[in-house]
Amino acid sequence: MPDHDDHHPHEAMPTRLVIFGRQGAGKGTQCLRIVEHYGVVHLSTGDMFRAAVAAGTELGRQVGPIMEAGGLVSDELTIAIVRERLAADDVMAGGFVLDGFPRTPAQSQALLDMLGDDGLHAVIELDVPLDEVTARMKARAREDDTDESIAKRLALYDAETVPTIDWFRERGLVVTVDGLGTEDRVTERLVEAIDKALAG
Ligand code: AMP
Repeated sequence: MPDHDDHHPHEAMPTRLVIFGRQGAGKGTQCLRIVEHYGVVHLSTGDMFRAAVAAGTELGRQVGPIMEAGGLVSDELTIAIVRERLAADDVMAGGFVLDGFPRTPAQSQALLDMLGDDGLHAVIELDVPLDEVTARMKARAREDDTDESIAKRLALYDAETVPTIDWFRERGLVVTVDGLGTEDRVTERLVEAIDKALAG
């Protein structure tokens, strides 16, 4: 019988991650690779909101104009949609990588309340400098990207998301990963960082 000296609260828990990074940091690509490697579900609040807009639901009608203007959807709506998704069977069983959530201290606290203490393995900060992401975003503008909304969202990242990352940093959960270099190299760094977090 093994003793329990090496017991870790994360041991039996499906992989649970949050990833942060400015728009243009390569988060989307790397999330797909994390999904492949760890078998987790990708939970992107931006994708959920865009799907609601595309489907023309009541939620979509509420969030569409906010997204177009590059603003943040209310904490109330955002927390509600995440709470519902986190409760789904595939997410409970397979684990997840949260992308684009949380973006504010209120969302962060709500997330920890939902998951409980030790409910996350790691909060990854995919680090790419501002001038580099600005150039990347202008090169591959999306439908909801105008120069104005790009600048506004990048400024919002510093105003709202950086303090959010710092909030998790104070709780010892943040792992910063260098997002410069080839996609493969960045994936290697991510897997190394995540494996280390999973090992506790
Ligand atoms: P993203 O694809 O993550 O850049 O999200 C696209 C847009 O959806 C954002 O610019 C916000 O308007 C909205 N959004 C996504 N996630 C959140 C969130 N956690 N809190 C508030 N608004 C969000």
